[in-house]
Amino acid sequence: MGVRHRLPPKAAGDGDAPRVHASDASAIQASDALPLPIRHTNIFFSVLFMAALYFLMCRWREKVRASSPLHLLTLSEILAFVCLVASLIYLISFFGISYVQSSILSHDDIEEKVNVVESSQPPLPLHRFPPTAAMSIPPPSPCPLLAEISDAKILSVCPNDEDENIVQSVLSGEIPSYILESKLGDCRRAAGVRREAVRRMTGRAMEGLPLDGFDYQSILGQCCEMPVGFVTLPVGIAGPLVLDGLSYYLPMATTEGCLVASTNRGCKAIALSGGAQSVVLRDAMSRAPVVRFATAQRAAHLKSFLEDSVNFDTLATVFNRSSRFARLQGIHCTLAGRNVYVRFSCSTGDAMGMNMVSKGVQNVLDYLHSDFPDIDIISISGNFCSDKKPAAVNWIEGRGKSVVCEATIKEEVVLKILKTTVPALVELNTIKNLAGSAVAGALGGFNAHASNIVTAIYIATGQDPAQNVESSHCITMMEAVNGGKDLHISVTMPSIEVGTVGGGTQLAAQAACLDLLGVKGPNLESPGANSRRLATIIAGAVLGGELSLMSALASGQLVNSHMKYNRSSRDIPKAAAA
Ligand code: ADP
Repeated sequence: MGVRHRLPPKAAGDGDAPRVHASDASAIQASDALPLPIRHTNIFFSVLFMAALYFLMCRWREKVRASSPLHLLTLSEILAFVCLVASLIYLISFFGISYVQSSILSHDDIEEKVNVVESSQPPLPLHRFPPTAAMSIPPPSPCPLLAEISDAKILSVCPNDEDENIVQSVLSGEIPSYILESKLGDCRRAAGVRREAVRRMTGRAMEGLPLDGFDYQSILGQCCEMPVGFVTLPVGIAGPLVLDGLSYYLPMATTEGCLVASTNRGCKAIALSGGAQSVVLRDAMSRAPVVRFATAQRAAHLKSFLEDSVNFDTLATVFNRSSRFARLQGIHCTLAGRNVYVRFSCSTGDAMGMNMVSKGVQNVLDYLHSDFPDIDIISISGNFCSDKKPAAVNWIEGRGKSVVCEATIKEEVVLKILKTTVPALVELNTIKNLAGSAVAGALGGFNAHASNIVTAIYIATGQDPAQNVESSHCITMMEAVNGGKDLHISVTMPSIEVGTVGGGTQLAAQAACLDLLGVKGPNLESPGANSRRLATIIAGAVLGGELSLMSALASGQLVNSHMKYNRSSRDIPKAAAA
């Protein structure tokens, strides 16, 4: 019988940990757990057993022939008998356990394989998890619900045999998690298998994370890799926002109590004052590669070449080949020593445009090789773009849509709806949003909470929420007008990066929110009109949000309203007492 010794188990995350495949499971024996050199012990007891048996048989035959009494034993016979019994006990317990184990294996093969794979801690094919407390707890059983639910329910919770094998292969690293969709041809099934593998690796069941009720096909190759479920967020509606003569109901995905209610109040104040007006100053997405030359002089040559208006038409033709919607608007270069940062700006129709502009930039870089063979392209993005990072270039030059939105709020609306006064709002805006932000060294943050509204609408409408960084750049201005009676309020937002096609905008829930705003998909008559409209709606919503929060601050209502909306009713007395 082949006897193996199990290697000592390695820590979780150790890439050299021994792999034990499911197919090896049956080869592992109970004897593997014994610390002694088993092979020698087995041979010793087998030989001892045979020798003692042979000796006693010989003695028994001699006694029968000599007709001597069998029960009278000599010392050597007693010793031989003891050896026989001892070796028999050893051999029965050793081989007997193996026999029992093999019969258990044949009855519950799958369960045994799972335990073997889990206890051997093979290299993880998915992301490694840090060795947290979760990793030090005993690995979970294949299905923790077995003891708690009926057989009928087990079938719907635990993977079937075929999926069980795939889960095992993912755990062992045989099948990389990221190819499950293409291998299975069923995105929902792939998500379920991946999730089960993650559950077994982490010991966390992710019970609150829904799996069903989502179209995983719709995100394939576009929105999210290796899905295991989806996060649910409430969507509230504020409005109507009356903007440029039209009414909009604003979808806001948020978990911040008070935000939707506050925006709603601001929209009401705007509507009662005749509505807001908006203007789009600029519409251009940017991408700035960084290239290097041997000398700063050569770098300066490239800058002159790219910024010379004589070359613009040729460069635009090359750039615009990337898409029928991409139209190069300008090139702005800056140097850092012998590195050149080239900021290309282009309109992108109704797409937010990062892909489109990147393709155009690549076209131009390829083209430049003929005139500048010594060009060294360091990266297609050199951070002068600047995407998803606070940067003065976006605040000053703009990125995406640059929008101004304004309204004149009547004195009686300020008093009745906003519960404050025009002078109080004007003074607060100066001291807080302008001077306060200056004191803080703000970059584009001359506002009360533009990012709250931007992010909530971004998530609801399938925008890239990470772009809220520059999209929330905003300066809020307030002045008393009409003889000091009414309030003129405006928000100036130079970098609203939005699209109504591409990215997450095509997902069912997000598309429904865009549809609510009347800007779903491409605008066929005037490409770009939908995304610009969305940008102005967002600026209008920010206008409402600024109006309401500033009023709450001016009148000292902020804490009270947060107590009301941010805490469940049973917590209000507790909060009030705190
Ligand atoms: P992004 O650059 O925002 O990630 P993509 O460039 O990936 O977006 O997606 C835009 C896609 O939508 C392109 O393939 C483009 O041809 C197509 N498209 C269709 N209609 C329009 C439109 N009106 N404006 C912009 N793109 C459009």
